Amino acid sequence: MSNLPGAARERNEKNNRGEMKVEGQSTRAVHAGERRFKSYHALVDPIFQTSAFTFETMSEVVEYQESQGQGQPIDRFEYGRYGNPTIAAAEARLAALENAESVIQVASGMAAITIPLLYLLPAGSHLIMTDDCYRRTRQFCETYLKNFNIACTVVPLGDFAALEAAVRPETYALLSETPSNPYLRILDLERFAEIGRRHDAITIIDSTLATPINTCPLDWGIDLVVHSATKYLGGHNDLVAGFIAGKTVLIKPIRNLNGILGSVSDPNTAYLLLRGMKTLALRVEHQNKTAQAVAEFLAAHPAVEQVYYPGLSTHPGYEIACRQMKGFGGLLSFKLRGDVQACYRFIDALQVFFISASLGGAESLAIHVATHAYYDLSPEERLEVGIPDNLIRLAIGIEDAQDLIADLDQALKLV
Ligand SMILES: *Cc1c(COP(=O)(O)O)cnc(C)c1O
Repeated sequence: MSNLPGAARERNEKNNRGEMKVEGQSTRAVHAGERRFKSYHALVDPIFQTSAFTFETMSEVVEYQESQGQGQPIDRFEYGRYGNPTIAAAEARLAALENAESVIQVASGMAAITIPLLYLLPAGSHLIMTDDCYRRTRQFCETYLKNFNIACTVVPLGDFAALEAAVRPETYALLSETPSNPYLRILDLERFAEIGRRHDAITIIDSTLATPINTCPLDWGIDLVVHSATKYLGGHNDLVAGFIAGKTVLIKPIRNLNGILGSVSDPNTAYLLLRGMKTLALRVEHQNKTAQAVAEFLAAHPAVEQVYYPGLSTHPGYEIACRQMKGFGGLLSFKLRGDVQACYRFIDALQVFFISASLGGAESLAIHVATHAYYDLSPEERLEVGIPDNLIRLAIGIEDAQDLIADLDQALKLV
């Protein structure tokens, strides 16, 4: 920033990251995290595509090292694996949106889940997680954590009696998602946070499907929020990244561990996230409305057996969702009245929806859940984990509702 004139530098000090006092989520999404005045007075934050940073003198090196101990670290960087200004801007933007003290951007949503667990869970400890969660998360907890002598109990999402009963003295963390995937179950965050506090266990919520536009779990007392930024935060199906948000006392050691494990994100991805997040509120509010219209259309269609969407009053999580969410999100699932072949015919006939397993981007996507995400299981094993052969998941993009409904309508005729 040394090429900025003095007045701009002074104003920057007043408008530094995190000090901006704006209330609206869309204003935060556009402005938070970036300095008001940038090099050469560029309007948009540059991509700092550099692996290392220089010091002008040895006294600056000493000042930097001193700042790493106690107190407030000075705003400069040393090496790409430990931080980068473009990444710091994206982190500060999400921190403003999630009302978080600190945020770290990591290589993927899975890194955002595995790294906090590796930090929080020593050998001999115990984790409780809820079912209907991201499949790779469950695989990590049930197989890889076991190798470190870390036990894991899975309880049904929303069954708080089962959750309490599963708590042991060595339970260090509680992990859940809301809305969940693929059934869009809704977790009562206040109750979950209270149980965590009472038993001295850190509560972690994968809030990928909600986004901070619909729910801010930290406001409900949750300790750590994790995101697959690959989905709504990026919003354009063109990047893979993750975020972890929470209090600095938790994020700082997680950042240190990530610097050792090396699952870091890169400045180009941070730039795409800064750009994507600017339209987060616009996109999510539109997706909320469109998904609601699609859910209502499907619920009334004779070829559809059941729709899973928290914005339908028939959904078991509807009341909690009304209390805890500003919108019901852009993902929904439904059971078709028909067999696997009928599901395949329906999906093959879609002309606007793509067949693809992600969610949260501009393009609407459809999958046959059993084939796309559970192909390695037998039909019996799939039923055991609650995945029937007629379950279809739709990720609503930002297209017009009438076109998506017309597309579904013509494809349903072939069922
Ligand atoms: C996609 C997803 C993940 C994994 O994120 P990646 O960015 O693909 O690593 C985790 N949780 C949820 C809810 C997801 O949708």
